Amino acid sequence: MTHQKTKPHSTPHRPSQGNRDFRNRTRRGNNPPAEQKIAPHIAALTGNASARPAITLKAGREKSLLRRHPWIFSGAIEHVDGAPRSGDTLPVRDATGNFLGWAACNPDSQITARVWSWRESEDIDAGFFRNRITNALGMRRELQLAEHSSGMRLIHAESDGLPGLIVDQYGGVLVMQIGSAGPERWRETIADILYELCKPVCIYERSDSDSRGLEGLEERNGVLRGTLPDNVEVIEHGLRFRVDVAAGQKTGFYLDQRDNRALTGAWAAGRDVLNCFCYTGGFSLYALRGGAKSILSIDSSQEALQLAQANVALNDLDVSRAEWLCADVFEALRKLRDQNRKFDLIVLDPPKFAPTAAFAEKASRAYKDINLLGFKLLRPGGLLCTYSCSGGIGEDLFQKIIAGAALDAGVDAQIVHYLHASADHPVLLSFPEGAYLKGLVLRVT
Ligand code: SAH
Repeated sequence: MTHQKTKPHSTPHRPSQGNRDFRNRTRRGNNPPAEQKIAPHIAALTGNASARPAITLKAGREKSLLRRHPWIFSGAIEHVDGAPRSGDTLPVRDATGNFLGWAACNPDSQITARVWSWRESEDIDAGFFRNRITNALGMRRELQLAEHSSGMRLIHAESDGLPGLIVDQYGGVLVMQIGSAGPERWRETIADILYELCKPVCIYERSDSDSRGLEGLEERNGVLRGTLPDNVEVIEHGLRFRVDVAAGQKTGFYLDQRDNRALTGAWAAGRDVLNCFCYTGGFSLYALRGGAKSILSIDSSQEALQLAQANVALNDLDVSRAEWLCADVFEALRKLRDQNRKFDLIVLDPPKFAPTAAFAEKASRAYKDINLLGFKLLRPGGLLCTYSCSGGIGEDLFQKIIAGAALDAGVDAQIVHYLHASADHPVLLSFPEGAYLKGLVLRVT
């Protein structure tokens, strides 16, 4: 899951920033302030300032691009000609001058450029964005991904050929999240195309993710097109969820766990369930509807828990079987262990402990801690549904951490499912970073 925070003990539910309309603050098609400066990464690499803007890589550093990985790190660049500004489209060449791709330049970022296209004859213009967006929408239609949900990820950034751009749909509302300088430059064009093709009642911009800081971009949160309805709702497998697009986490809801939530619902009948990091009640509602004997849901965000309880009421589910706890999961699990509480089904769906590999060691300890406690709280034959949405923790490492946790908890367990994000979060083969969400369902033997 694509959860937001890097620190295990944080409470990342964002305070409301209101529903401000940024159309009055940003002229159509104008250049964001970041374009005015030439950032240090690029300044240090400056080649011929009067030549046409272009990026030339160091010898041998073209390999990842030849494998069609779209990121160009500053360390791979030999020199940058011209005086490119943030968001400019530049040709990228290898050390001998061969064309590799057209890339959006992010001078303020360690990822100095992200490739839009590998074709030299392709223009990066409104037509290019129309094509890419049409393709993304077409794939989701062809695979009938709307069959079980009125909410869906319509554009999954690099994996849909649009680095740095996320668009999520909640019924008639689209939420756009821009994470890098390329789509920032094309923001108005992209909004126009989405408005025309999807005909939403509102396009809301939630460009306030942590990654914007790394890209030197200011935060944005407000209506881009149309009007935001008072209540935004998504219906997933017949369950209704209110979505707080202005102040909720990510773009308001964790669409990536849709299929996994449905699985949990199918196993819940007659079981005592514990849902850790419950957010607005996703797994809890499925478990209640699935006939759970009881469900204890824990989250550190009071706002998230309030919305979770409102969601239970919205679906006429039996509240008497549900218990809610606003607490730090790390502490709460220890208390439950000390109270000798036992469960038959436990969901652990924490926020992103390791956004990159640099955080892997610390994050591994946090994952091991909660999973070890999770194993201890399970009755024999119980199920542990455990997830990591950390880009910095690969699938192999995650499985090793869980194996270590089971060993230290003194239990034997078998993996009964390997889980991933739903199909509206495709993973481009050449961009394995797109596969951030991994889950294991373990049965304690
Ligand atoms: N499973 C949810 C999504 C979980 S998102 C769903 O299906 O919708 C991760 C959640 O963890 C967030 O709601 C966040 O508030 C919560 N969180 C983060 N750190 C926490 C901590 N230390 N203890 C308890 N909750 C925490």
